[in-house]
Amino acid sequence: MAKGRCLCGALNYELDGPFVAMMHCHCSMCRKQHGTGFATFAIGPIAGFRWISGEDRLVRYQSSPKGTRSFCSICGSAGPAAMPEYGVAAAPAASLSGELDIKPQSHIFVGSKAPWYTITDTLPLHDAYPPGVGAEGVNRPAVTPRPGITEGSCLCGDIAYEITGTPARMMNCHCSRCRLGRAAAHASNVFYKLDQFRWVRGAEKVTEYKVPDAKFHAVAFCSRCGSKVPRPSPERGIVVVPAGSLDTDPGIRAQAHIFTADKAPWFDITGATPQFAAMPPA
Ligand SMILES: [Zn+2]
Ligand SMILES: [Zn+2]
Ligand SMILES: [Zn+2]
Repeated sequence: MAKGRCLCGALNYELDGPFVAMMHCHCSMCRKQHGTGFATFAIGPIAGFRWISGEDRLVRYQSSPKGTRSFCSICGSAGPAAMPEYGVAAAPAASLSGELDIKPQSHIFVGSKAPWYTITDTLPLHDAYPPGVGAEGVNRPAVTPRPGITEGSCLCGDIAYEITGTPARMMNCHCSRCRLGRAAAHASNVFYKLDQFRWVRGAEKVTEYKVPDAKFHAVAFCSRCGSKVPRPSPERGIVVVPAGSLDTDPGIRAQAHIFTADKAPWFDITGATPQFAAMPPA
């Protein structure tokens, strides 16, 4: 049995095995809702899914004609999805603790993956749905890049932002807060100076959740659709941009995997990007 939770702890649920599928999804909806390059779902029989607490804290957003996505209204973590029509329930694997008895089997929606993320493992790749699966998956039209400007938005479109100039750095963070907050294997964050960033619309729709015992760690998300959005940090003079919210290529690639000592047991880090057990040396 696996136990699921959100970052703030309001959502608690259980999903029994045996898990029937586990996959990394690169569709634009997953990238925006999780703020990452891909989301990873573990899928089990619906009979083994139950809420323990927090279902009343869940916000549902109709992301496509057939599909809804849900998230915690307090911290923004993506919630589980019961899919009675398929007899299964899907949970973000990063929200689960306990025995999963399965590992990721494939990458789906690779045809719409982010330009800044390179798949380096050897799992099978599917352009869209894997054969035999009828889940939702819709991509938004591409945004035409403007020179010197990087753009991003949330899934529902209420929030949009733009950034001038080049980023300072980009990191894949595997710490437990990033994994729970993004409900994904790892965060991919792009860092800019504060004065490079501006909201184009929807700043008033942004909800921030700060982890109570953390010095800086906080999550910003759209209160309507749950997408992770940039978090300006005036005390540090920076803005932290969840790369999954970007609509254009930031022109940088992740420079390191950090906090790998905390990484998800089911996620294998592959490829040549340097790895650090905690923070990289300054
Ligand atoms: Zn929460
Ligand atoms: Zn997806
Ligand atoms: Zn939104």
